[in-house]
Amino acid sequence: MELYSGHINKLIEELAGLPGIGHKSAQRLAFHLINMPQSRVERLARTIVEAKENVRYCQECFTLTDKEICPVCANTRRDHSVIMVVENARDLAAYEKTGKYTGVYHVLHGAISPMLGIGPGDIRLKELMKRLEGDVTEVIIATNSSLEGETTAMYISKLIKPTGIKVTRIASGVPVGGDLEYIDEVTLLRALEGRVEL
Ligand code: ZN
Repeated sequence: MELYSGHINKLIEELAGLPGIGHKSAQRLAFHLINMPQSRVERLARTIVEAKENVRYCQECFTLTDKEICPVCANTRRDHSVIMVVENARDLAAYEKTGKYTGVYHVLHGAISPMLGIGPGDIRLKELMKRLEGDVTEVIIATNSSLEGETTAMYISKLIKPTGIKVTRIASGVPVGGDLEYIDEVTLLRALEGRVEL
């Protein structure tokens, strides 16, 4: 015997497939959605579909954007010769919030993890190396201080070293295993200012 309607079960199943949503939260959300006015549910559904259809990767830094080139890359007042490498668009947003970083970014969309079977070919590394053929003076590696983040930093620095471009790593002081997006702006700035050459 089905406890709820099949539609609710399907909705719970879909929601439970999202990151950070366990079965209980999925249940709670599903019932909340069902109790919402029809117009709000439609607006939410439309917003999801429209975001999926219109958001794309910036052709330069690969962050998520509505345009071909994101606002940071399109800004001619920023220093395009300094590239900060981050794991995801949320980390980029964290550094942008400090308002003090004037270079540009490169978003890898992940980190190398032998445990999870994520190799260098699975993140946007090729694209980073391609950018280095241009006028670049420094690459700041700002991957997380997790095992995966450190592995990725080492790998990238070895890759870039032969090009003669300066490679730096943001200072530790960022708690180990800490996701960049949860760290406050002062700590982020300190990590950036205290970066060391690799
Ligand atoms: Zn961009």
